[in-house]
Amino acid sequence: TAAQRPVGVALLGATGSIGTSALRVLERQQERFVPVAMTANGNLAALAEQVARFSPAYVGLVQDCPEAPGGWGRGPSCLVEAATHPDAQVVINAVVGAAGLPATLAALRHGKRVALANKETLVVAGDIVTRMAREHGGELVPVDSEHSAILQCLAGRQPHEVKRLILTASGGPFRTWPAERIAGATRADALKHPTWQMGSKITIDSATLANKALEVIEAHHLFGVPYDRIDVVVHPQSIIHSFVEFVDGSVLAQMGVPSMELPILYALTWPERVPDSGVPPFDPVALGGLTFEHVRHDAFPMLGLGIAAGRAGGAAPAVFNAANEVAVAQFLEGALHFSGIAERVDAALQELGRLPGDSLEALLAADAAARQHVQSRIARES
Ligand code: NAD
Ligand code: MG
Repeated sequence: TAAQRPVGVALLGATGSIGTSALRVLERQQERFVPVAMTANGNLAALAEQVARFSPAYVGLVQDCPEAPGGWGRGPSCLVEAATHPDAQVVINAVVGAAGLPATLAALRHGKRVALANKETLVVAGDIVTRMAREHGGELVPVDSEHSAILQCLAGRQPHEVKRLILTASGGPFRTWPAERIAGATRADALKHPTWQMGSKITIDSATLANKALEVIEAHHLFGVPYDRIDVVVHPQSIIHSFVEFVDGSVLAQMGVPSMELPILYALTWPERVPDSGVPPFDPVALGGLTFEHVRHDAFPMLGLGIAAGRAGGAAPAVFNAANEVAVAQFLEGALHFSGIAERVDAALQELGRLPGDSLEALLAADAAARQHVQSRIARES
């Protein structure tokens, strides 16, 4: 409660979209939470400004940067140092990509709560991450809005009462485009997300629907629900953040205007709710209509590819994720057409999708092989 000392929070990826939203939440909730460790990848100026405002005990910068202050942690190991900082009881992992995995595992090994935005962590090594949480008393609480919605709908229920999870998807900027037009979409087209302001990688993932595939895999691991009981529906307004259908036929949804501050706050306070999430008051009339559509799988092959990788298990989800990370980076650099993302990921899965995934080492080896596979193709073609 507010009368006690504030809970220490380590914020990984402080300078990103989720990171800056999280700092707004922490600022508003300063009687309950205080940032004690913060990291960023390479944006020294933005991190320095945040550090001046919040004075965390630990600061880490992943990239080599000669001008960084002497007392800061350096290199990729700073993520684990921040995540295991003795003053931090909660770790908000808002790093993008598989680079966030070691810090998630380290925090859970230390019995901490991980407020997880970094969905790639669960896609690459979901079994290992959830086992780590179980064995060391750590808690894995989703920040992703769909999974926060499901967690809220599941409050107080037992697994046998749940029939189906239904994740909503905005459909992205190409929801209504014909497949031929999508194939040639530009970087600027793909970065125009209709309902959410986010980092560039997840924005491209939302345009290909790879993001929804990552989220289906994430839901499978977080809630222990088999893939044949997880569905996706397109909901262009992004007001309903997901549904849970129960065995008696009742369906619960969680809704609100799109803002990541509510799921970030809920991940910190779960299972409790506290006042002042920063979301505007709810006005159902102002929302206008809520509509739902089937996914156009022919136009968005990444969703099916990713769900198939999840079902296949082993290293396939890690290969899907790593190949996608590299292909998206290539698309953002102008080195790959939009349709090339799915082509590269499909090719990587065909070549490497049956690699073993029975240990962290095996998964990291598959991740590295998939990155190499996609990178070498660009090298050959340019
Ligand atoms: P972003 O690109 O805006 O920010 C990423 C942050 O991570 C930055 O602080 C950056 O410095 C840091 N970072 C990047 N690469 C790194 C690396 N290799 N090692 C360490 N740190 C690194 O991304 P974002 O939109 O904030 O997304 C972060 C994560 O949250 C992603 O996994 C994304 O899928 C997930 N997510 C984001 C949203 C959203 O609304 N933005 C919603 C749901 C889930
Ligand atoms: Mg989401």
